[in-house]
Amino acid sequence: MSTVVSDTPRIIEMQVTDEVITARLADGRTISVPLAWSWRLSEATPEQRSNFEYIGNGLGVHWPDVDEDISATGMLYGIPARPHKSPARPRRGSQPTLCPPDMGLHLTTPSAAALGLSILLGWLAGAAANWAVDVLPGRGPGKAGGGAASDPETPEAAPTPGRGGPISALHYLTLPWYPFRGGVCPHCGEHRPLRAPLLEAATIVAFALAWLLIPDPWPLATTCLYAAFLLAILVIDFEHRRVLNVMLAPAAVVALLISFLPGGPTPVQALIGGAIGFGVFFLLALIGRGAMGMGDVKLAGVIGLMTGYPLVIPALALGIVLGGVAAIVLLVTRRAGRKGTMAYAPYLALGTIIVLLAAG
Ligand SMILES: [Zn+2]
Repeated sequence: MSTVVSDTPRIIEMQVTDEVITARLADGRTISVPLAWSWRLSEATPEQRSNFEYIGNGLGVHWPDVDEDISATGMLYGIPARPHKSPARPRRGSQPTLCPPDMGLHLTTPSAAALGLSILLGWLAGAAANWAVDVLPGRGPGKAGGGAASDPETPEAAPTPGRGGPISALHYLTLPWYPFRGGVCPHCGEHRPLRAPLLEAATIVAFALAWLLIPDPWPLATTCLYAAFLLAILVIDFEHRRVLNVMLAPAAVVALLISFLPGGPTPVQALIGGAIGFGVFFLLALIGRGAMGMGDVKLAGVIGLMTGYPLVIPALALGIVLGGVAAIVLLVTRRAGRKGTMAYAPYLALGTIIVLLAAG
């Protein structure tokens, strides 16, 4: 929306119909948003909708019967609301459909700050994913850099006390310096791959989308965690054609533990999802005779534990579709020359991230 705002907008009249929420502002403008943008008002009766009070001298409007707050700023900019307390909502597994996004602004939560926090956390998670991609396949930055100053096991490379932490973090937090230094790490002088800033940007996008799409705190947190993990899986499989057991085994345990938290699949749904993912892909691997590796099969099982039943089905189906599209593209462009094998893990990971975000 390109409206230029010269002053803090104030609401002087509010009307809710079956179709739209309409606010008249003190400066003469009228703003409307579809009723579906507020699921609380959508589900409210006409009596509940008409019972509201102006708060903050017209900065916002509060509906006490359904505990909804909408601000003039929120309506102008379409800023989604954050629930200031988690309502009892259906678990993800029992409701795989998209919920209408909750628009309007809850005045109790500074939304811009929350979005900024999710971007910062996404960036840090991207750095952690960079570390996983660099170190876990057994290819530490010191080895790759040929005596680079980041290998703590060589005596001259041991960071001097007090300058190790924040400076070596730059090795994995590449976004601020990458374009200005041609990819050369300011800490160790190693040339960092373009993948490093791209992975940081991808986790930031995933975290910001999760924050925009998922209203409840626990599913939001777990989706962010899983997205960062799956993006690391995706990159490692592209770079090394491997899905690492050292990542899958702890992920399976963590996903099962997380299933005991509210808001996601139940432990039973997680176990059923894991069994479906592992079982179906094990059969596919048998039928395909090596076209699909055991790493993909184990990853499908872990994805099942993360998403649970029934969400495991759209997650893996989308992964198969994305992988199929990629296979066709590779065939057409004649870039598939490795005896017909292809890495499925990146597409399974991507499909799962998309489904987790959409189902939030
Ligand atoms: Zn470095």
